Amino acid sequence: MALRTGIVGLPNVGKSSLFNALSAGDALAANYPFATVEPNVARVAVPDARLQVLSNLEHSTQIVPTTLDLVDIAGLVRGASKGEGLGNQFLGHIRTVDAVLQVVRCFSDTDVVHVEGTVDPLRDFELIELELQLADLEVVENKLERSRKQAKSGDKKLAANVDAIEKLAVHLREGKSLRTLQADEATRELCREFGLLTAKPLMLIANVDEDAISAGDAAIPAELRSLAGQSGVEVIPVSAKVESEIARLPEEERQDFLDALGLHERGLNRVIRTGYALMNLNTYFTSGEKETRAWTIPAGATAPQAAGVIHSDFERGFIRAEVVAYDDFVACKGWIGARDKGKLRSEGKEYLVKEGDVCLFRFNV
Ligand code: GDP
Repeated sequence: MALRTGIVGLPNVGKSSLFNALSAGDALAANYPFATVEPNVARVAVPDARLQVLSNLEHSTQIVPTTLDLVDIAGLVRGASKGEGLGNQFLGHIRTVDAVLQVVRCFSDTDVVHVEGTVDPLRDFELIELELQLADLEVVENKLERSRKQAKSGDKKLAANVDAIEKLAVHLREGKSLRTLQADEATRELCREFGLLTAKPLMLIANVDEDAISAGDAAIPAELRSLAGQSGVEVIPVSAKVESEIARLPEEERQDFLDALGLHERGLNRVIRTGYALMNLNTYFTSGEKETRAWTIPAGATAPQAAGVIHSDFERGFIRAEVVAYDDFVACKGWIGARDKGKLRSEGKEYLVKEGDVCLFRFNV
């Protein structure tokens, strides 16, 4: 399952710098509005401190984290929904992602041109929201027209669709994003099917001045913080400049650099973790001498479905799963202790795998 998260934002807000720091690649990050024309994709490891703990208990030879694909999407500008700038290309790429990370410029460097003339994070955020809402509205109005025609045949399912699509249109016409719509599962499914942009989970990255980053969440401009409070959208402070510098350092020097800035960890670690959490996923683990590994499943996946993420044969031939909750696994110091203390459960086909479960699958081939 390749989960894709798209990095969006106005030109020159620091998207490519962050993307490059994440992927440690060296694609162009120039002071030029369209430096990122083709979307780039980077597969990044999802940091998870539990992996090292499990690996120590089971004396694993290697650790394999789970991954997330990041797509660096070319900047959009005012009017993108009407085809301005790279509008249509941009919108096409963003339709394929599972979650959206919007980078908002908060850094003040006057050497870096701002396409809107001034640094104003809230205006920029709202500008992009508006473009995405307009793009969604266009799709929804087209679908509505088509569905109305089809529903004339008297088909009940199509008629129900018309009601759901109308609800989407009303919400968008009020200037609201679809992620704020109270909708049933069938309507959510329509949003996914239509690739509606404002229905996707969203997170903001506040790209702040490098000398502000030590302040942590206090570095986020007040207007973005209050927006986050009202809308429930998470905002994470990052300095693209600091992240780029860290990416250039040898691994063994990075922690000292972070310590000197008073930072506990790289801002990008938090970005990846939060991006992952946005997508309603669970992580389960396998752990043994060969490796300790994290696997990604949608929340609500059954044991056979979870096994299928490792290999389709595991799903087909599934017999049962031996499962220990992460905390129990750690408290009992591994598989053997968990079995001795009665914490190892044998679960069947109906079992819904939980966040942090440590699993061993039994199957027929
Ligand atoms: P994109 O168009 O959003 O992908 O922006 P880029 O990452 O290409 O950055 C545009 C310009 O802004 C480049 O010259 C970067 O060096 C600069 N820049 C990006 N992030 C920061 C930052 O946090 N601080 C400062 N001072 N400059 C930055």
